[in-house]
Amino acid sequence: MRSTGGLLLGTVGLSPLDALNGAYPAPGDEAATLRLQHTPGGLELAVEQGGKALHRLPLTADAVWRASESVLMVRPPSGGSALALRAQDEQGRQALKEVADQAASAAAGAPNLPAAAAAARAQDAQQPAAAQQQQQQQQGPGSGSGNHFDSKTDKGSADLYFHYYGCLQHQQNMLQDYIRTGTYYAAITENPQDFEGKVVMDVGCGSGILSLFAAQAGAKVVYAVEASDMAHHARHLAAANPGIGDRIRVLHGKVEEMEVPEKVDVLVSEPMGTLLVNERMIESYLYARDKFLKPGGKMFPRLGRVHLCAFSDEALYGEVAQKSAFFQNNAFYGVDLTPLHAPATAGYFGQVVVDQLPPNVLVSNCVTQTFDFLTCSEAELQHIRIPLSLQVAVPCPVHGVASWFDVLFDGTQTQRWLSTAPGLPITHWFQLRCLMERPVVVAQPGATVSGELRLVAHNRQSYDVHVMLRAPPLTPGGPEQVSTGKFDLKEPYYRQQMQWMMQMAQAAAPAAAADDGTAAADVAPAAAAALGAAGLAAGQQMDVS
Ligand code: SAH
Repeated sequence: MRSTGGLLLGTVGLSPLDALNGAYPAPGDEAATLRLQHTPGGLELAVEQGGKALHRLPLTADAVWRASESVLMVRPPSGGSALALRAQDEQGRQALKEVADQAASAAAGAPNLPAAAAAARAQDAQQPAAAQQQQQQQQGPGSGSGNHFDSKTDKGSADLYFHYYGCLQHQQNMLQDYIRTGTYYAAITENPQDFEGKVVMDVGCGSGILSLFAAQAGAKVVYAVEASDMAHHARHLAAANPGIGDRIRVLHGKVEEMEVPEKVDVLVSEPMGTLLVNERMIESYLYARDKFLKPGGKMFPRLGRVHLCAFSDEALYGEVAQKSAFFQNNAFYGVDLTPLHAPATAGYFGQVVVDQLPPNVLVSNCVTQTFDFLTCSEAELQHIRIPLSLQVAVPCPVHGVASWFDVLFDGTQTQRWLSTAPGLPITHWFQLRCLMERPVVVAQPGATVSGELRLVAHNRQSYDVHVMLRAPPLTPGGPEQVSTGKFDLKEPYYRQQMQWMMQMAQAAAPAAAADDGTAAADVAPAAAAALGAAGLAAGQQMDVS
């Protein structure tokens, strides 16, 4: 069969596969071109190689399954193995989008004819090839997939973000956090009732580790969704662990653009950032809940809590204040730099400080805000207001607000908390502090510092943090003390990196030695790996997901 006319959509990778088997094509697919043709029965997709049509498929909804922005499954009408079409470039992605859109509108009974089908008709009427090209270019690459994630996220931010997670070294950093990974392992495998025979989705599977844990706990199938190119590694890892990996279907794409053939019993995910909500990935977790989770289904983790506490830390304050001292130079190569001192100081104080905070700097009770992932809405995460009422035990300057979070795995058989609190074994999230340029001073023991911490979401996958502190007057009859600060959660000052490596290595040794059947023994393999890799990883950029 030679192709005749139709609209040339673009070139994609092609490989045979059983769609339900889910293993997407490996690099090195055969290239094929897609052509949209108008037939008396409706639109048809011709898949061609070397000018010859290999397959002609009526564009119906059940013949096409869009696995992600860059992968489409098509099922020949004759039955048999489905085909995977994999976009290799932007034009390919547009081609797949066009095919999926046409199939969807055919299913809705309202073919979306104006653009593609009309062009296909025109092409069938022998429109010259150049005009075809022009038509395609007018549609333009990257004309937007219109999914929820893309509509609220700056593209540059998302590109950097997914590039970062596409690097194995950053996945390694998380995998080696054995408090994190070990707690997930324990929470999943100690609750087989929640996983055995169940359909699971792993939202942002990264290397696929949580999917593998879910499979170990007996999951029937795990849809492992990953937007970054880490999806390829996850696929390899699943394939290399056949006893469990063969129940994992890695889907490459954002969860917001994904379709799966069934609703799921359980969602697993590790969407937490510093202050719990940084990276705004919890919103993707909630999106997956609303779209894919069966009523009454389980979420691992089920809730998260943010804890806030007043701190007093002269050393930190002095260190940050000192950073801008450079701009106090009024004779820098004969130039007066002092006008820049105040803005430089404001810039340094506008960074949140991420480090392991010594518990003895905490000087008040904690305020806690809980986010129940089963019921929380995405809207609630756009503007988060946490009122502060912090009773300060000793007279001291209050330099700001310290924060950490924990999450609960609310399993049917076992509950587990993953905590990032100060004083507990450290995690790669450390703790986070908002350091005020103008501290308030507590003169009376037991006085209350009030105010609020507000988080306002921005489209670069993070938040502006607004802190306001109020303290009683310093002298009787004097004015109330008020201090305000604004911080960008996305611009942290990583105060402590090497210490992290050292502690991971040290903490790993006893845990690896323990073999007493306790939970510590469960995390030993990961800890042992941390010991070996701490040296290797030294100097790499810390991630705070
Ligand atoms: N689950 C892995 C990785 C956690 S990091 C583990 O526990 O080790 C979060 C991962 O989610 C990253 O790999 C990131 O690329 C992915 N991710 C973030 N937002 C996503 C989205 N909207 N859709 C799909 N993947 C997403």
